[in-house]
Amino acid sequence: MDFKSTIRTVPDYPRTGIMFRDVSTLMADAKAFSAAVEKLSAPFEKFEISKVAGIDARGFILGGAIAVRLNAGFLPLRKPGKLPYRTFSESYELEYGSDALHMHVDGVKPGERVLLVDDLIATGGTAEAGVKLLRRGRADIVSAVFLVDLPDLGGARRVRNMGVEVKALVS
Ligand code: 5GP
Repeated sequence: MDFKSTIRTVPDYPRTGIMFRDVSTLMADAKAFSAAVEKLSAPFEKFEISKVAGIDARGFILGGAIAVRLNAGFLPLRKPGKLPYRTFSESYELEYGSDALHMHVDGVKPGERVLLVDDLIATGGTAEAGVKLLRRGRADIVSAVFLVDLPDLGGARRVRNMGVEVKALVS
């Protein structure tokens, strides 16, 4: 499966000079989406993953499908103001300003085997916040998986340096 050809590139979005990798076109393609879910799930079949943690918002779509494939539960890591119960929070830097991710304090149990999922890793700031949240709950992070890695931005290296394995479908 040629996944790259199913991802649309939109120049100058959300700002001039940014080449946005639009994975909605991959997700809209039945064969590509199902093959992507299969490729990112199969390596973890024997790992007894008990939860998939998906990052707001495209990580929910991919992560939900992977969770069902692995017979795992789903845990949303959300932008501020979205989760109703008590949360842990980790902020991260954006090019202009900062943002944060939240996780319910009882989202994971200590030692629980978790797979972290998002659509794309660029600088790795978002994924790093996800790793920190899961570690605050003392989860055992088996791997972090993405549809797309933008290697020039160093995110995969950054997450690997935290001791978490990274897999991506296309780079
Ligand atoms: P990072 O924190 O690694 O710099 O950025 C990754 C986060 O921003 C992910 O949650 C991802 O959804 C979003 N993101 C950044 N650039 C792109 C892009 O070109 N395409 C898509 N689909 N998401 C992006």
